[in-house]
Parts: sequence; structure tokens; C-alpha cells
Amino acid sequence: MPDPRGESTRAVHTPPLASFDQTPLALPVHRATTYAFDTAQAYADVLADTADGYCYARIDSPTADAFAAAVAALEGAGLDDEVVGQPFASGMAAITTVLMALTGAGRHVVAPLRVYGGTYGLLVHQLARFGVETSFVDTTDLDAVRAAVRPETALVYAETIANPTLTVADLPGLSAVAREAGVPFVVDSTFASPVVCRPLEHGADVVVHSATKYLGGHSDATGGVAVGAPELLTRVRRARVDLGGQLGPDEAFLLHRGLATLPLRVAQQCRTALAVAQALESHPAVQSVDHPGLAAHASNALARKLFDGGRYGGVVTVTPRGGREAGMALCDRLRLVAVATSLGGTHSVASHVASTTHRQLDDAGLAAAGIDPGAVRVSIGLEDADDLLADLTQALGAR
Ligand SMILES: *Cc1c(COP(=O)(O)O)cnc(C)c1O
Repeated sequence: MPDPRGESTRAVHTPPLASFDQTPLALPVHRATTYAFDTAQAYADVLADTADGYCYARIDSPTADAFAAAVAALEGAGLDDEVVGQPFASGMAAITTVLMALTGAGRHVVAPLRVYGGTYGLLVHQLARFGVETSFVDTTDLDAVRAAVRPETALVYAETIANPTLTVADLPGLSAVAREAGVPFVVDSTFASPVVCRPLEHGADVVVHSATKYLGGHSDATGGVAVGAPELLTRVRRARVDLGGQLGPDEAFLLHRGLATLPLRVAQQCRTALAVAQALESHPAVQSVDHPGLAAHASNALARKLFDGGRYGGVVTVTPRGGREAGMALCDRLRLVAVATSLGGTHSVASHVASTTHRQLDDAGLAAAGIDPGAVRVSIGLEDADDLLADLTQALGAR
């Protein structure tokens, strides 16, 4: 039968997507920002959350939801209780939204002294202006954490593996302090990934990730995710919808694809990181090597208890003898390892800590944080261990 509609109408209103009940083995990318309803009531019901369905992509989006659900399944695999996830446009969007969902004017946060720089900025430059106060404490000292808790404390915050000292958080101990205070325990587990440690199994209530790092793993997509129990994550979703930090569909596809190889990648990165750390420990030009897998690292016992067997993360912090200049010179001499920020990708990258991620701290501030001015953080990629070791060794050795 001929179509009586005009050419432009036919060009827009194409035949509908054929429905089929097979499972595609790759995640479809749903780029639509808006979805049609059969009735005005069906639209109202989805918007009111009284019926399932999609309405507008900032509110919920199938590809972003699939990514968050996949991370929730990885983080919650060992738990009887239901774990759900929320997707975000970046790790900072996830952290901002979780903190705004769980705090408010007049409330208080207990956070680590050496918290990720972006999170520090969020707490000090942004949330403080809205009446949220933060106590930064040495979270390896549980008594100090307990002493920092106040009646108005809204949450306890920690990072599974801290940058750049690679100090491991005492998740069960911190969780007990939060539980005593009756507040949620929020953990940034970016440096660990669920392949190394799943904080929900050790008492965390909400886990956040910069998916830009290990989860995506290829340095080609920015994203974040928060996972936890449905009650808390419902509050997080509401705040996400209001704040607008939703993950885009193309990024969601890339991050979701990264998850398929996450265990392979991270297991390999952990093996190489430990081998590199052990080999560099005895190098004459090296003052110290930080890696939780080293027997000499202050967190080794905790890492053995909390981390999956033999996996201590893919980051190694190397401090050459000679201070700030030696650290910068080490970076300058690297050939295979790129001098670049971020971590968790296929390519190994190095950054001189005192001039980059911790540039706000002077030498006294660095010393207080236990960071040598020469420290170089290396995120181990997927190159062969021998090639990485050869590059680091030549960079340390040349004069
Ligand atoms: C990178 C990072 C973030 C921020 O993530 P973005 O995706 O860059 O917004 C938060 N926490 C840690 C530990 C990180 O390494």
C-alpha cells in the first residue's frame, strides 16, 4: 500500500526497530535521549518511578544502567544481600553525588589525610561552602578516626589503596567505627578494582570508582560508578538525577566492554607490579619502593588479609636517591613508560608525585604526608615485565 505521508515525515518516522527475544553478546548502545509512551499516563508513571521504563537519558539510560549493574555484580558477588549500582560521567561525578546525597548543611565527614586530590578539593572548596565540614585524619589510626566522629557526622570515607604511598585502608576496622556511629562507610576503590578487593565484603556501605582507570582500562573513556545496598543507592540516584552527572551511552559501552577483560588485565598488572617492585627494591639508585605486596610495606599484612591472593594492585611508587631532581630526572629518562597522569590503562605511565598530583604540598607538607619529594608513581600497564624493568632500570642507572 502506498505511504500517503510526505517525504520528510517518512524520513523521520522510519519503520520501528524490529523486536526480537534473543540475547546479543555485545551490549547495544542506546543513544536515544527520549523514549515514546503509548499513553500520557504511562509517561507520568515512569516519571513518578511507579512503573519501570525509560523516559529521558539523564534520568536513566539502558547502556549506562547495564554498565553500573555489571560493576555491582562484580563488587557484590560474594554477598547474600542485593547490590545495585548507579552510573556517572566521571569518578568525581560519582563522589560528588554520593557525598551530596549522604551529607547536608551542618553535617560532617571524616576523611583520610591523604585523600585523592579531587575529593579533597570537593570537600574543602565546594562542600564546605554549603555547610559540610570535614575532619581529615590519619585513617590508619582507628582511635583517631573514632575521636574525629561527632554527633553531626554523616559518613566515614576511605580509599582502599591510597595514592601514592599505597597504604591499604583497614576496611573492617573503619567499618566498625562507622557502624558504632550509625553512619554509612563510603570507600573509593579505584586503585584496587574488584579484582583485588571488594570492600562491600569488608563492611563498606557504598563503593565508588573512577571507571576511567582500571574498569575501562584502555584510557579512552571517562566515567564513574557507585554501588551498594538499594536503600542508599536510591538516594544516590535521586541526587544524580538532580545534579546531572549521568554517564553517556558511548562511554558506557566502552567501560562495559573493559569489564570483560578486567580480571585478565588486573591479574597481569598485579603480577608485573610485584615483580618490578621486588626487582627495584635492591637497585643501588633506589631509596625505597612502595607496593603493598612487598614484605617491607607497612600495609603488607592488611593487604594479605583483605586482597585476593597474590594481588596487590598495579601501582608501584619508586623513590630514587637524590630527592626532587632525581625523581624528575627518572621521569625524563623513561622511554617505554610514558610520563602521564591517570592509571589502570594498557600503557604504563609514570608521574613525579611532588610536581603533579601533590604539587599543592611544600616539602614539609610532603614529609607530613609521608611522601618523599623524589617519589615517582608508576602505573603498570600490560607490557612485558622484562621490558618495563629494563626501562626503569636504565632510567635509574643513567647519570
Ligand atoms: C582518578 C581518580 C578519581 C577521579 O576520577 P575521574 O574519573 O578522573 O573523575 C577519584 N579517585 C581516585 C582514587 C582516582 O584515582
